[in-house]
Amino acid sequence: MSRLVMKFGGTSVADLDKIANAAKKVVQEVGNGHDVIVIVSAMSGKTNELVNWVKETKEDYDQAEYDAVVSSGENITSGLMALRLQQMGVPARSWQGWQVPVQATGHHESARIDAIPTENLFKSFASGHKVAVIAGFQGVMHDGRIATLGRGGSDTTAVAFAAAVDAVRCDIYTDVDGIYTTDPRIETNARKLNKISFEEMLELASLGAKVLQTRSVELAMRYRVKLRVLSSFEEPSETAGTLVCSEEEIMESNVVSGIAYSRDEAKMTLVSVEDRPGTAAAIFGRLSEANVNVDMIIQNIAEDGRTDMTFSCPTDQVARAEKALLDAKTENHVDFVDLIADMNAAKVSAVGIGMRSQSGVAAKMFKTLSDEGINIKVIATSEIKISVLIDRKYMELAVQSLHHAFGLESA
Ligand code: ADP
Ligand code: ASP
Ligand code: MG
Repeated sequence: MSRLVMKFGGTSVADLDKIANAAKKVVQEVGNGHDVIVIVSAMSGKTNELVNWVKETKEDYDQAEYDAVVSSGENITSGLMALRLQQMGVPARSWQGWQVPVQATGHHESARIDAIPTENLFKSFASGHKVAVIAGFQGVMHDGRIATLGRGGSDTTAVAFAAAVDAVRCDIYTDVDGIYTTDPRIETNARKLNKISFEEMLELASLGAKVLQTRSVELAMRYRVKLRVLSSFEEPSETAGTLVCSEEEIMESNVVSGIAYSRDEAKMTLVSVEDRPGTAAAIFGRLSEANVNVDMIIQNIAEDGRTDMTFSCPTDQVARAEKALLDAKTENHVDFVDLIADMNAAKVSAVGIGMRSQSGVAAKMFKTLSDEGINIKVIATSEIKISVLIDRKYMELAVQSLHHAFGLESA
């Protein structure tokens, strides 16, 4: 029996009618002869509400308890989806992460899936169930405690299940009809892509395009999962949505395929750090232990044995970063004079595999921003991306002008 994974995001299960709409799509696929594994997110807005409750209760919260609270939105939608399917005459059963079990490891709040033993699931299919509805976003740590997989983590649940059960495809149903050249909410001329390479999608996701969680793309790439993003509000067709696939399957590649942004970035500067071997190791070691996602890093030329060091991280990790840096000062003897957090930054990035063979992309990007009067605070590049940190108030303008400059509009 072929197995298919279908994931429905928050807006696709936002109320009972939307759950019924999603369930209809599942029934169709059961009719097409698949055993279906459905992954559901929490109703849209629910996870944010739960996160806020945690923060209101205790600002420096215990991350294990955060997970206990914040994972619960998915319990509701998985049960409701199973009930709706039963009501439609399809034998379905809901599964919370610990029941499968989805074994997780790493830090609470951003745990990683370690393994998904499929025995229980397959037993359930063998006993006559046609659909397993999995609460996305959830895992269980080795000590038995519930974990969450980071915001947007249901995408990762979906791809991990697709790999574990060797699914024919992993369909990610969402509120847009595919992956676009940039977020269609910011640039109305964004163009839908029929295909995008794993490498480019991985960069776009890690640079902020939240249509897929980064880890889900990593897993799809590693296990060669056939991954498709499509709308839950349109009729299905063979060519619907965007296929994320290997580079070889894409005939033409643009120099730049997409523009990504991350709105809530902070620029952290350690002023006058003592310049000696081990300083960077101590600073970034501490930040990593504190689970801070450091992205861009610059170290200036040293003068009189001291230097300034700058890095970027998401604004909601600044408190953790500050604590880690103060610990580095007291416990690792990292000597610095001041720590400045600029909370008004955003990161805008251009991504494309064509950059490997074409020069001039960075120059064009900087010229475009300069023509708009946008100042660049930090620059970072890799083989297939260029990122800049700018003032948050110019973020939309930067995305739109770069989208235009690289000719990404609809034809
Ligand atoms: P879900 O709740 O279904 O997981 P998300 O809100 O996490 O949905 O992701 C879908 C959203 O991603 C879209 O509504 C869109 O605003 C945003 N997005 C950002 N970049 C892109 C892009 N390049 N293509 C499509 N959508 C994008
Ligand atoms: N509900 C979780 C979130 O809002 C997981 C997800 O939607 O993928 O982050
Ligand atoms: Mg999402």
